[in-house]
Amino acid sequence: MKTRQLQAALAAVFLGFSAAAIAAPEFDDKFRQLDELLPTATDTRTASGAPGHRYWQQRADYRLRATLDENTRSVSGSGTVTYTNNSPDTLSYLWVQLDQNMFRRDSDNRRISTQPSREAWQARGADGVKFDTLRSTLEMQRFEGGVNVQSVTDSGGRPLKHAINKTMMRIDLPQPLKPGARVSFNLAWQFNIPDARVVGRRTGFEKFDDGNDIFEVAQWFPRMAAYYDVKGWQNKQYMGDGEFTLEFGDYDVQLTVPADHVVASTGELQNPDAVLTDVQRERLRQARGARKPVVIVTQAEAEAAEKGRNKATKTWHFKARDVRDFAFASSRKFIWDAQGIKSGDKDVLAMSYYPKEGNPLWERYSTAAVIHTIEQYNKYSFDYPYPTAISVNGPIGGMEYPMISFNGGRPVKDKKTGEITYPRSTKYGLISVIIHEVGHNYFPMIVNSDERQWTWMDEGLNSFLQFLAEQAWEEDYPGRRGEARDIAAYMRSTNQVPIMTNAESTLQRGNNAYAKPATALNILRETILGRELFDFAFKEYAERWKFKRPTPADFFRTMEDASGTDLDWFWRGWFYTTDAVDISVDGITEYTVSSKDPEIEKAWARARKQEEPISITDQRNKGMERRVDRFPELKDFYNEHDEFTVTNKDRNRFNETFAGLEDWEKALLKEGKRFYLVDFSNKGGLVMPLIVEITTRSGKKYIERIPAEVWRYSPKKITKLFIADEEIVSIVQDPYWETADIDLSNNAWPAKPVPSRLELFKTERDSPDGNLMRDFNTKLAPSKPAALEQKAAQ
Ligand SMILES: [Zn+2]
Repeated sequence: MKTRQLQAALAAVFLGFSAAAIAAPEFDDKFRQLDELLPTATDTRTASGAPGHRYWQQRADYRLRATLDENTRSVSGSGTVTYTNNSPDTLSYLWVQLDQNMFRRDSDNRRISTQPSREAWQARGADGVKFDTLRSTLEMQRFEGGVNVQSVTDSGGRPLKHAINKTMMRIDLPQPLKPGARVSFNLAWQFNIPDARVVGRRTGFEKFDDGNDIFEVAQWFPRMAAYYDVKGWQNKQYMGDGEFTLEFGDYDVQLTVPADHVVASTGELQNPDAVLTDVQRERLRQARGARKPVVIVTQAEAEAAEKGRNKATKTWHFKARDVRDFAFASSRKFIWDAQGIKSGDKDVLAMSYYPKEGNPLWERYSTAAVIHTIEQYNKYSFDYPYPTAISVNGPIGGMEYPMISFNGGRPVKDKKTGEITYPRSTKYGLISVIIHEVGHNYFPMIVNSDERQWTWMDEGLNSFLQFLAEQAWEEDYPGRRGEARDIAAYMRSTNQVPIMTNAESTLQRGNNAYAKPATALNILRETILGRELFDFAFKEYAERWKFKRPTPADFFRTMEDASGTDLDWFWRGWFYTTDAVDISVDGITEYTVSSKDPEIEKAWARARKQEEPISITDQRNKGMERRVDRFPELKDFYNEHDEFTVTNKDRNRFNETFAGLEDWEKALLKEGKRFYLVDFSNKGGLVMPLIVEITTRSGKKYIERIPAEVWRYSPKKITKLFIADEEIVSIVQDPYWETADIDLSNNAWPAKPVPSRLELFKTERDSPDGNLMRDFNTKLAPSKPAALEQKAAQ
């Protein structure tokens, strides 16, 4: 700390440092409005972020029939799509999604895949790919994937002209579809179900040693592409990462499966009498009012079913209202449990379907996690509106559909002893993935953002609520995404793209589309807005856009509109750049106010002089006999008095000045406060609030929170005045690690050493493979927890 006296008038100092900062030639205004990046508001989307008075969206209703053939592992289907044109535009053709074509041998997904760079191989010292990768590559060449569209006809049965472009099909309408008009067409199709363990993506079958399969069937029927105001047709090809942009509608679906299968599905079962036993129906009835899950199909019953293979079929009939998609799972291996809960004034049946291989984890945690999700998400968004909420265990690591989700994660069975255990990571991985996938009902199944374009709008918002729900499960829940400190390593990494990047071009998907937006929102909630303002605004966004399609601008604008806070700087920094937070405490100067009294001030100046170190010459000359020692008569007045001696002239001048001061001016001189000018620099690029923990001489600690706008005139370097009653002995910027600061070594004055351990090795170093082997067990678990979504984060 440098110590100086504040000789100039206080006012001059205060004005001085704010003015000094303004003038840099290439000034980077971190607080300029987002207008240059956001679309102009319209009558469909207002400047406040709400749906406009002319908001419209299309509608697609489906009547579908499908048969699951377990011998050929294929689905054949037929059905009618009724498309309602609520847009103000006349449409001469419709676009339909044929997602199964991603599994064709000649698909873009296959053609655009690349191998790790040669540099990466060289760095590792060997050319090679994983077994998994090679198996997938070979199996993809063998598998007869893709959808065979057998017919497309109009409501009179006449063929409709259509063209298939990879994963999209254009149906040409004989007459243009006018605004407000409706058209129905019929389809028939067939496809082979992919082996989810090898080539599957978000759908597929899993083959068990006992000869049975679990089928998790999704993207299984031609789905209407979305058409909306800011995009037109969303017909960007399905290349594998960008998910599904869909319209709401009602579904009437009949699924024909082997008679001994149990079907879990989007929607409500319409014909329980035809497909369930009396006992099962009675158990379901009990489950509705139960306080814990009631088993509808027991493990013993499922194990008995596994041993047979019924050649007959049964048809399960489901209806779903206002959903944007429809998926189902089918197997004779399923154990099934259910528990009824209230969501607002609605009754919801939370249910889980899992094979015996999932126990004891699944019977204990799955339905409980489904219910927990609804309880928690309801708090922050809106009441879950659907009649069922389902978690299914099968080959898909984690994937969401309306009312139904597919989740991985199973215990491990020791091959020799048969003992069943599960690692900690599997337990929490399972609870987390269920919260996440059931949570997707809210985002994007109901708040229906454009997933093919913006991964973060569903994954980021959902991961944020997942974090809140995890915190409400148990103390110290080992969540992975949400805490500011957990994103710092990613924010330091190379190869980043802004959050506002198309779904297919996102690098480090798990960090970029899940963790970073989730963390940004948590920081917005805890550090920038506070919980009350944030929660109100976030809920407002959810309420405004449920059963509608929001864009990023609608989210940004609503959060500002409802919180009364200009957050453009926050969206700009966190969503449109790859800047990081790194605020450094550079220096500190202490000032005390000059009393102007010469008796005090000259004594103060003398004391400062005496504090100066003795020069090396003076030290060595100490005790030396000087001339004036030998000839004392050479001494005079100046040998008795130093430059700090107070003179009468000094006293008179002070008395005159003091008499001329106003009372308030005299009081200020006696205030006795200490003033500190602290220099901060922004090394990471992101402007953020200063959170300054101050410790004073007597041990008193307090925090000053300074809004991010402190950087508005000078985004790289600022000086901030702190006033203290007593001497400040230390300052820590961001003491609770709440801003994701990527370098904590420059956050404190005086600087603190970063504690770490120096590992000493014998000549033969522990090979990193030792750790790999320990980790191997968790990775070998029959189902990788959240393999799909979490793999992205690795
Ligand atoms: Zn997700």
